[in-house]
Amino acid sequence: MVKQQFKAESKRLLEMMIHSIYTQKEIFLRELISNASDAIDKIYYRALTDDALVFDKDNYYIQVTPDKDKRTLTISDTGIGMTREELEEHLGIIAKSGSLAFKNENEAKDGHNIIGQFGVGFYSAFMVADVVTVISKALGSDTAYKWESEGADGYTIEPCEKATIGTDIILKIKENADEERYDDFLEPYRLKAIIKKYSDFIRYPIKMEVTSSRPKEGADNEFEEYSEVQTVNSMIPIWRKNRNELTDEDYNNFYMEKHYGFDTPIKHIHIRADGAVVYNAILYIPENTPFDYYTKEYEKGLELYSNGVLIMNKCADLLPDYFSFVKGMVDSEDLSLNISREMLQQDRQLKQIAGHIKNRIKSELQSLLKDDREKYEKFFKSFGRQLKFGVYSDYGANKDTLQDLLLFSSSKEKKLVSLAEYVERMPEGQKYIYYASGESIERIEKLPQTELVLDKGFEILYFADDVDEFAIKMLMNYKEKEFRSVSSGDLGIEEEASEKPSEAEESANKELFEQMKELLGGKVKNVIASKRLKTHPVCLSSEGELTVEMEKILRAMPG
Ligand code: ADP
Ligand code: MG
Repeated sequence: MVKQQFKAESKRLLEMMIHSIYTQKEIFLRELISNASDAIDKIYYRALTDDALVFDKDNYYIQVTPDKDKRTLTISDTGIGMTREELEEHLGIIAKSGSLAFKNENEAKDGHNIIGQFGVGFYSAFMVADVVTVISKALGSDTAYKWESEGADGYTIEPCEKATIGTDIILKIKENADEERYDDFLEPYRLKAIIKKYSDFIRYPIKMEVTSSRPKEGADNEFEEYSEVQTVNSMIPIWRKNRNELTDEDYNNFYMEKHYGFDTPIKHIHIRADGAVVYNAILYIPENTPFDYYTKEYEKGLELYSNGVLIMNKCADLLPDYFSFVKGMVDSEDLSLNISREMLQQDRQLKQIAGHIKNRIKSELQSLLKDDREKYEKFFKSFGRQLKFGVYSDYGANKDTLQDLLLFSSSKEKKLVSLAEYVERMPEGQKYIYYASGESIERIEKLPQTELVLDKGFEILYFADDVDEFAIKMLMNYKEKEFRSVSSGDLGIEEEASEKPSEAEESANKELFEQMKELLGGKVKNVIASKRLKTHPVCLSSEGELTVEMEKILRAMPG
């Protein structure tokens, strides 16, 4: 038998691919299962137009069979198979995709479930195997063929025996080497986990024989081993189901299964978008702040699927930073992926999806605020700080999105208040939205500067969180009402002007003030008389833009 040679470029391409495109070895299984699923899809689409062909769903499946003794892993499918020519073309020419050609030919019909398009996924098998053998019998053909290759040095093809239509891919799994444990790919439990992770929603059953033990009948405390063929994948993804078929429990189970968190989410959002971009998404607003949430270690992102196949664990581009607490997944048919499937080739669709998701999260939070105040406050306790950072970052670019989601402590009944609520109940004659900053609510309440404002019956927002005042500085105003610190020079309160200390009062105490200033040794800029104080003898106040509190924070900042 003559060994056919890969072309030189192909050799290099294969090397390159094996070593650099895929970041994780385990994805070879995803690729081979995707190919098997594509092969079954092709029969399915053929049957749509060919009356002689009947597609009986029960006859179509994918089987994964590890054999520890022989060190082989076989992935079999009952799909369309490959002729000798197809084996040559599709597996002999790297980057030739039979599936892409099929999709293009079948554009009119809906062939868009087919996953393959780059013509390289198959070769990922060489990441874990020394030898790859493909035995295939094509639909409508009497002869089966065996294709075999040890990687870069070429392949052989010869006729062989195979009873049924379809393809068996047999991998001779590599021996363990140094750090790499290839043995894992022969362990049913490990294979099951990989299938669950990447291929859970493949539309055909992925079967595997699994050995477990069970209590022996009639004998106490004795166990027996037994084997059964299990369907490992769940096939119908929850996000493709109708919302009204699903209960809160279904959504919460999915949250657990996916390890999005260990808490019970405050809210889930199920999106089925059929507009300019078609996608499904399930998003969650967690209840608790992840332990690393406000650290650099926290990684935001949503799981990204293309047609039911997991592409990315944490696609950061799908979420703005201020909604980084959102967990969940997006599945779209419209994504153009690059060959590794781990990077997105172009992100126009992705941007559209991200924009849509952002608006949806915002409106869901708004209605939560409106309809379930208690839950919203719980949410805000966990993630409100992040929203305030969001207002502050990007030079306030997000303020329209976020300002109505903010809550602040307030002097009224010690409750949290939104800016809308504050403005709504402002009495006539109140010009500004007042706030007071301090280390804690208790300390703010003791601030002498609050007295005059409270006496007028005006409400004060209490800023005990250091990001509060920064956020407000970015907003500048809300519904045309300016924010004003209670320690600012001009509070816009009428009495203020008329009660300004007279010149006589000022000069009468001039010496005292001078002496006080001197005693404070340059710690204050000036000591002046004020009529704002009611029960307190003295207070600190600042001039200009920065309040005393902000100055403190700025001074404490590194660099
Ligand atoms: P892609 O799936 O992106 O097209 P692959 O390298 O994974 O690229 O596969 C190359 C081609 O080989 C596929 O397009 C398909 O035509 C063919 N092929 C691979 N596996 C199978 C299979 N199990 N059954 C039938 N055809 C297959
Ligand atoms: Mg493929």
